[in-house]
Amino acid sequence: MSMTPALARDIDGKAIAAQVLDEVKDDVLALARQQVYPALAVVLVGEDPASQVYVRNKLLKAGQVGIRSLEHRLPASATQHEVLTLLDQLNADPEVNGILVQLPLPAHIDEKAVIHAIDPIKDVDGFHRENVGGLVQGAEVLTPCTPSGCMRLLHETCGDLSGLHAVVIGRSNIVGKPMATLLLQANCSISVVHSRSVDAAALCRLADIVVVAVGRPQMIEASWLKPGAVVIDVGINRIATAKGDRLVGDVDYASARTVARAITPVPGGVGPMTIAYLLKNTVIATQLQRAGHPQLATTL
Ligand code: NDP
Repeated sequence: MSMTPALARDIDGKAIAAQVLDEVKDDVLALARQQVYPALAVVLVGEDPASQVYVRNKLLKAGQVGIRSLEHRLPASATQHEVLTLLDQLNADPEVNGILVQLPLPAHIDEKAVIHAIDPIKDVDGFHRENVGGLVQGAEVLTPCTPSGCMRLLHETCGDLSGLHAVVIGRSNIVGKPMATLLLQANCSISVVHSRSVDAAALCRLADIVVVAVGRPQMIEASWLKPGAVVIDVGINRIATAKGDRLVGDVDYASARTVARAITPVPGGVGPMTIAYLLKNTVIATQLQRAGHPQLATTL
């Protein structure tokens, strides 16, 4: 008699993101009762089509939870000085609570200089070195949206994460490194796997939790996973198929779900959480600014 293996359950990022957005809406209403109306400024430089879609989605969702959004579009030919001048204005504007510069920027603009020109207390992406340092030290700071969203998915799926072994595949500043830091704060034992790791699959097979942010379509297969592992797939890759383009993650979903206990689908897993946490961060930034938060006093 052949046995069909039990398939992992999907972690429903859309449903959990909707809960987060409801929480944000409640916070926005509470602020409105104090005549405070959070506003998010989104800066888009150039005409990158994917960036335009991301920005449109962010602005749409902001409106749905009652956050005012201010869109600033600059042409691809904008100079670094022009971008920095705009950021100075937004930093100084008390009506602006959050500032997001959509990445990537055109090649002639220094991304680091732009990120570090944002006032840390308005840095809703959590990429400024002051926020990064604060995160490592466990201070109350603005934390990058995608890893924050992944943590929420993990807590909703596993509850307390203490003592679990988590493997993060990828060590980017945007996802991998802050993800590992947040997992450590949640009392996981962590391993970070990257392109120089020796036998990444063997390391990954030790993990109770696997978070994958590599940017390589369907790289992680069933053979990389311990039975019962919880898998968070951050990857978004567009691949061509006979039926047209399709979005896939960094995990081979069909094979991984025969071994994992729970897994995020792509799309519909991590993606919606990133936008939800951007808006949550906008509310947190507003609250920190109102509290005159000492950790994040304006340094510019
Ligand atoms: P980066 O390209 O900045 O980083 C990729 C990381 O993967 C690097 O640390 C690299 O290692 C590592 N890596 C590359 N090849 C291998 C390999 N063969 N084995 C092990 N590690 C490897 O990517 P990001 O972190 O920015 O993004 C990762 C993915 O997540 C992308 O698909 C991106 O589109 C997606 N993404 C999705 C978001 C969402 O909202 N869902 C948000 C942000 C990103 P090394 O450092 O050694 O080079």
